[in-house]
Amino acid sequence: MNISPEVSLNDTVSFASGLRELLLPLTEHEAITESARCLMCYDAPCTHACPTHIDIPKFIKKIHTGNLRGSARTIFESNLLGATCARVCPVQELCEGACVLGSEHKPIAIGRLQRYAMDHAYSRKLGFFSPAPSTGKKVAIIGAGPAGLSCAGELAKLGHSVTLFEKRDLAGGLSTYGIISLREPVEVALMEVALVQKLGVQLETGKDVGINLPVEDLRQNFDAIFLGVGLGNTPQLGIPGEEYILDGLQYIEGSKHHPSRLRVGSNVIIIGAGNTAIDCATIARRIGAERVTMIYRRTENEMTAYPHEYDFVKREGVTFWFLAQPIKVVHENGKVLGLECVRIELGELDASGRPSPRPVPDSTMFLPADQIIKAIGQHKPSIATVLNLKTENGFIGVSEAFETSSPAIYAGGDCIRARGSASTVMAVQDGKLAARAIHQRLVNHG
Ligand SMILES: Cc1cc2nc3c(=O)[nH]c(=O)nc-3n(C[C@H](O)[C@H](O)[C@H](O)COP(=O)(O)OP(=O)(O)OC[C@H]3O[C@@H](n4cnc5c(N)ncnc54)[C@H](O)[C@@H]3O)c2cc1C
Ligand code: SF4
Repeated sequence: MNISPEVSLNDTVSFASGLRELLLPLTEHEAITESARCLMCYDAPCTHACPTHIDIPKFIKKIHTGNLRGSARTIFESNLLGATCARVCPVQELCEGACVLGSEHKPIAIGRLQRYAMDHAYSRKLGFFSPAPSTGKKVAIIGAGPAGLSCAGELAKLGHSVTLFEKRDLAGGLSTYGIISLREPVEVALMEVALVQKLGVQLETGKDVGINLPVEDLRQNFDAIFLGVGLGNTPQLGIPGEEYILDGLQYIEGSKHHPSRLRVGSNVIIIGAGNTAIDCATIARRIGAERVTMIYRRTENEMTAYPHEYDFVKREGVTFWFLAQPIKVVHENGKVLGLECVRIELGELDASGRPSPRPVPDSTMFLPADQIIKAIGQHKPSIATVLNLKTENGFIGVSEAFETSSPAIYAGGDCIRARGSASTVMAVQDGKLAARAIHQRLVNHG
């Protein structure tokens, strides 16, 4: 069966909250038919491949038998942020990539079935859990992104009194501010925040721990602390004219929260080749740029974007310029005219395990553009220094139980991801496992 396709570039429309979702929801007929294809494997590889280990055949079977409430419950039991994960997970690399039907047929559309069950639960405002009797213990969670929300919700379920401190106006972390609306509208992230609040979690926004809320206050007033602070801002390139380059994260945030005010150029350059860079390129194309070029100083073999994202953005008409490094923004009377770059050749492996880029002498080139955006990663979490915590490559170092070098302070999500790629579902799992470790500590320490 062909299930409803992606919304194509030509169909794109803007809504108050930005671009509409790329994938249409499944119809009832599509969901029933797709769920019937699942072999309900014993010891299912899809469940093993899911970082939160959702019992996938179980929730799919419940869709097939019309028990959508039960299906949603199965998902929530393993993952409180199932609606976000259904939309943003790199399923090709995880559950769907492991589906036994993938080698000879099409894998089951697990992400879209999960979204079907989650949409059912949220549209009917179904409740699933009530907090256990109060333990009298208090936990402070810093950062209301996926890691913090997951940890907060799981601890509240266990009967702890949880306060979630978030520095931004809205909770949800990158799900609210960073993941493009084509994949996840803001409303979905905020529904999940509301779900966690319904479990009894107190949310205090506008509280920047270390700035307008001293850490000492938290140490004195709470039995344990969880850091789910994510990463920092985009670093500087350190080239002349950098003040004319837009920040990729702010560009995406603008597309989600102020789409009518977002200025998109007609000839746009994106510096970087990770998933954030791909998202910036997608926005630029979908909102109307005629030409979008991504510039990366290594080759497609080293780029950090997922292969399916790379294929997607090429289909969107984005072109790539590999082995080029920006050296100067060319501008006149406050207007960007283009980017000067130098050719790169690759040398020995560097500390990241990738070939080091070396500028080729006398190889300067000029690429015209009227808008330049940088998406070259994020700064490491600065709170590690504030709290004097041990770090690993600048990320917060934790034990297997997610405890930092400071007793009773735990951490999870992007801020501890010293190796490999980071994703929402990994942050959710960290939050869940850290909650269990914190619970053990609070119970054992009386
Ligand atoms: C542009 C972009 C697109 C992405 N797309 C995907 C995708 O499609 N699929 C996917 O799986 N992953 C994606 N990711 C990665 C994913 O968003 C992250 O892995 C995930 O959000 C990590 O969750 P977190 O809770 O650790 O951090 P965050 O989501 O960053 O949340 C951290 C929260 O802590 C708050 N905070 C920070 N410091 C303080 C402080 N001192 N006091 C109080 N609050 C504080 C921040 O404001 C924020 O709300 C994307 C990331 C980016 C940047
Ligand atoms: S691996 Fe595929 S067929 Fe088997 S249970 Fe998972 S989704 Fe169903």
